[in-house]
Amino acid sequence: MSGQNKEVQLYHTTIKYGVYIALTIHMVWLLGFWWLQFEAMAAVNVLSCLVYVIAYYLMKKRKYVTCFFLVLTEVMAHATVATIVLGWGTGFHYYMIVTAYVLFFFPQIREVKATAFVIIIILYVGLYRITVGTPPVENDIVAFVLPEANIVGALCIIALLGSIFRNNFDQMIQNLHQMNRQLEHMAATDVLTGLFTRRKMYELMSGKMEKNDSFYIMMIDIDYFKSINDKYGHAVGDAAIIHVSEVITANLKNTGFVSRWGGEEFLATADVSSDEEAERLAETVKEEMNIKALHHCGEPVPVTVSIGIAKWERGRDAEEVINEADRALYNAKQKGRNRTTIHEVVET
Ligand code: GH3
Ligand code: MG
Ligand code: MG
Repeated sequence: MSGQNKEVQLYHTTIKYGVYIALTIHMVWLLGFWWLQFEAMAAVNVLSCLVYVIAYYLMKKRKYVTCFFLVLTEVMAHATVATIVLGWGTGFHYYMIVTAYVLFFFPQIREVKATAFVIIIILYVGLYRITVGTPPVENDIVAFVLPEANIVGALCIIALLGSIFRNNFDQMIQNLHQMNRQLEHMAATDVLTGLFTRRKMYELMSGKMEKNDSFYIMMIDIDYFKSINDKYGHAVGDAAIIHVSEVITANLKNTGFVSRWGGEEFLATADVSSDEEAERLAETVKEEMNIKALHHCGEPVPVTVSIGIAKWERGRDAEEVINEADRALYNAKQKGRNRTTIHEVVET
């Protein structure tokens, strides 16, 4: 599921719980007003319950926007009627604050939300002007219980919706982090060999350039690889790339990083302190390649590599040293392949 779909789902979940909570509250009110013999308000609550049943079916039919605005309209209308009938002091108007809070939970439709917000403000201010001075209904329970019940009710709804929203939001953030980790892994790992990609290798090399004073770069290329592809087919070509990557990794992973630089080309770093050590290491890789043969249908497939070596030292540009390793590789190819060559530093 895409990030945007998850976000939309988050609002849908909030609406769903909103409808459940509202339906329950209105049923309680319906019974309460019936018991207090406020038939008019009981009738209003019957209507409200009906609206929430419709909202429930709209939700099931995935008509979320209609459902959302139907619920908001019901809350506004109900708060208005209850405040006019029972008085400002009963606190039914607090639910108008809840609607303004919930309104902006919904994604997109910005103009509609802005218009609805202005309507909420006008209605709320108008209701205050009309009802604020009027005496409350003469009924002890209405006068003493309803204000507190409505304050607690409105606060609980705000807190509950807030916590539902927060939980879903946390879940969404967690999923995003997980997706990010997967993407980072994909960008850093070559699919065929599991080695680092060129992009990751640049990152690792800049890390090394900050910490080390010097290290060696080896550019390794499979010899006459095109003819392996031509003779045995692409699948065996792929198997040869994997085989070479395994031999390189087995010999170089303890001294540095290994990456797949391009098609049948690998770039490795080696933390050794002298040209001789670097050459010895490269020779080992080359020799191992000759010893550990790749097999296809029981027959050995000869795979050899040529290796170019160059040294990076503090203050030097990595790209320059990579080019030197490339030129050394070219020399190894020129000299007949299946060999290693180090870039000679010309003393000035
Ligand atoms: P040289 O000894 O001079 O390096 O010759 P070469 O044949 O190895 O080099 P060349 O650059 O001529 O050919 C490389 C070939 O590698 C061409 C391309 O089709 C093939 N190749 C590149 N990536 C892949 C891959 O992922 N799988 C397979 N099977 N072949 C690939
Ligand atoms: Mg090649
Ligand atoms: Mg090549």
